[in-house]
Amino acid sequence: MEHETVSHSVSERTLARLPSGTDVSVTVHRYEGGPGPTVYLQAAQHGIELNGTAALRRLHERLLEAELAGTVVAVPVVNSLAFDHGSYVTPQAVDAVNPNFNRVWPGNDDGTLQERTVASLWELIEAADVVIDLHSGTADMLEHVRFQNGEHDSRRLASVFGADYLMTDPEPDRSLEEYRGTLRTAARLAGTTVIVPELSNSRQVDLEAARRGADGIENVLGELGMLRTEPLDPPSQTVLYDDGGRVGADRSGLFEPASGVAIGDRVSEGRELGTLYCPATFERRQSVTATTSGVIYSLTLESAVTAGEKLAGIADLE
Ligand SMILES: [Zn+2]
Repeated sequence: MEHETVSHSVSERTLARLPSGTDVSVTVHRYEGGPGPTVYLQAAQHGIELNGTAALRRLHERLLEAELAGTVVAVPVVNSLAFDHGSYVTPQAVDAVNPNFNRVWPGNDDGTLQERTVASLWELIEAADVVIDLHSGTADMLEHVRFQNGEHDSRRLASVFGADYLMTDPEPDRSLEEYRGTLRTAARLAGTTVIVPELSNSRQVDLEAARRGADGIENVLGELGMLRTEPLDPPSQTVLYDDGGRVGADRSGLFEPASGVAIGDRVSEGRELGTLYCPATFERRQSVTATTSGVIYSLTLESAVTAGEKLAGIADLE
C-alpha cells in the first residue's frame, strides 16, 4: 500500500424514477489515494438518523488533508426520500410495500421503488472490501457498533471504532432469516465485511456523536492501513447479544418508566421497568417488567405508545 495525497471527486448517481418522472439520485464522494482497499460509507438509510451524515462531513474535511492508501466512497444521504420527509421510513406514497429502506437489500431491478433504488446502490457495496453503514438510535438507546457474529474482521473493526458497547446477533443463522434484507445480512451473504455504528440521537445533530462517528471511521481506516494514523486502543468494551429481549406494550396508552431505571442498567428477569396507563381513565393497563435478564439497551422516551410497540430492549452479555 502506498499513501498519496487524496484526490476528491463528487458525482450524482441516479437510483430510480418516481411516479412523476422525477429521478431519485444521491451524491457520491470518492476519495482516492494510492493503491489499497476500498471502503464504502453511507448514512441516513432512515431519514431521521442525521449523525452519520454529520460524521461524514467531519471526515470529509479530514480526508481532504490526508494521505490515503486505497479509496473511500461515501454517500452522506442514501435515502433522500425519507430524509426530505423527516421520517424514519420512506413515504408510503412512493413505496407502500417496502417502507423500510434497510429491509430490501440487495434490491431488485424489477421491484418496488425502494428495491430498485437499493439495487442501483448495490454495485457500490460489491466493489468495497469493507462497508460502514451509519445509523443513529434515539436518545434512549445505548450507542454501540454492531458486528457480524462469527466474522473476525467485522468484530475487529467494530472494536477499533471505539464505542463502549459492541452488539451482535446471538445466532448468526437465525438472524439471517430474522434480519433478512438488512444491508448487514445481504453483505454477509455476499462475503463483504460490514459494521453498523448506531450513534446517539436521531432527529438532531449531536456534536459529540458526530465527532465520535468521524473518529471511529478514522480509527477503522487506520486499522486497515489506509491512513497513517495509529488507531487508539479501544476502551474496555461490553459485548451485547441482541437476543430479542424485547419488551412490548400489551395495549395502547401512556408509558411512564419506573424511577431509577435507565439504559445501561443490568436487570434481572421480572424487574419493574415502568407502567402503562390509560391517559383518559387513569386505569393501570400494564405493569411492564423485564422479560429476560441482561442490559437495558433501549427504553422508549416517546410516551404515547400503541399495542405491540417496543418499550424496551434487553440484551444478553457475552
Ligand atoms: Zn437506522
